[in-house]
Amino acid sequence: MAIHRSSSHKSKKLLQTAQPEPLIYLNGEFVPKGEAKISVFDHGLLYGDGVFEGIRSYNCLIFKLNEHLIRLRESAHTIMLKLPLTAEEMADAIVETLKRNHLRDAYIRVVVTRGEGDLGLDPANCKSPNYFVITDKIVLYPESFYRDGMEIITVPTVRNLPEAINPALKTLNYLNNIMAKIEAKNSNYKEALMLNHQGYVAECTGDNVFLVKNGLVQTPPTYLGALRGITRQAIMDLALRNDMPCQERILTRHDLFNADEAFLTGTAAEVVPVVKIDGRQIGKGKPGKVTRKLMSLFQDLTRKDGVRYTL
Ligand code: PMP
Repeated sequence: MAIHRSSSHKSKKLLQTAQPEPLIYLNGEFVPKGEAKISVFDHGLLYGDGVFEGIRSYNCLIFKLNEHLIRLRESAHTIMLKLPLTAEEMADAIVETLKRNHLRDAYIRVVVTRGEGDLGLDPANCKSPNYFVITDKIVLYPESFYRDGMEIITVPTVRNLPEAINPALKTLNYLNNIMAKIEAKNSNYKEALMLNHQGYVAECTGDNVFLVKNGLVQTPPTYLGALRGITRQAIMDLALRNDMPCQERILTRHDLFNADEAFLTGTAAEVVPVVKIDGRQIGKGKPGKVTRKLMSLFQDLTRKDGVRYTL
């Protein structure tokens, strides 16, 4: 019996090692993960100087690809980084990476760095951007969070000032979010609520925040210090199209504590109900009706809306 188990374990291991390495699209070429490397002089690494996107594909449909490519271009434009590929070329590169990795359902990471330079800050010394596409699987939160709701905590680190590093930009400079994540994890929470410098609700480290009160779906305006989340926009559109009034509102923690429902949205997290914030129960302490409806509408949308590819 023991021998049997160990041999099946061995053959499983052999099977695992026989799996080809994932392919990364790096500067116009497909290279195995282990060989996908860029210089230690790249300013993306030295200074967080670059932009990125996180995108999903669901059953061979790339969700909101165009919106992600527009946001990538806008982030790059603001930091004066010329994208090395057109939107069409980037879309082709993404599709080809998914195909080569045989992925129907994937998390897609697109990164463009300032490129290799010297040890000074000046981006003018970086001759050409480095760019890459990684396709992988992602599981951000356990299934129970979607069924029973999650608990989050407000952290002391405030969201970056829009006048300093605007949270509307999706740049490689994510230390503000990472600090907040560390603070949440230090208290055994998986996600942190971040306020802006005035104490208004901004967003979470990787998700936008919504509440529902008396039937009105509300989310903070992004000028208070939040990314213009593509899932956020999809949820606002879905709410309005399905007779659920939805508005941008300036929100405080008090508003969240006394909401009927709360939830987070993001490409990786999708729509996740929040049932407790800083120890205060939200509504009935379980995922609310509006949240559940929006989760279901969002799931339907990801099943039918997107750029199709074939494997
Ligand atoms: N806020 C932040 C800080 C993010 O990094 C993200 C994306 N992970 C979001 C919100 C959600 O944006 P999206 O729906 O476009 O993924």
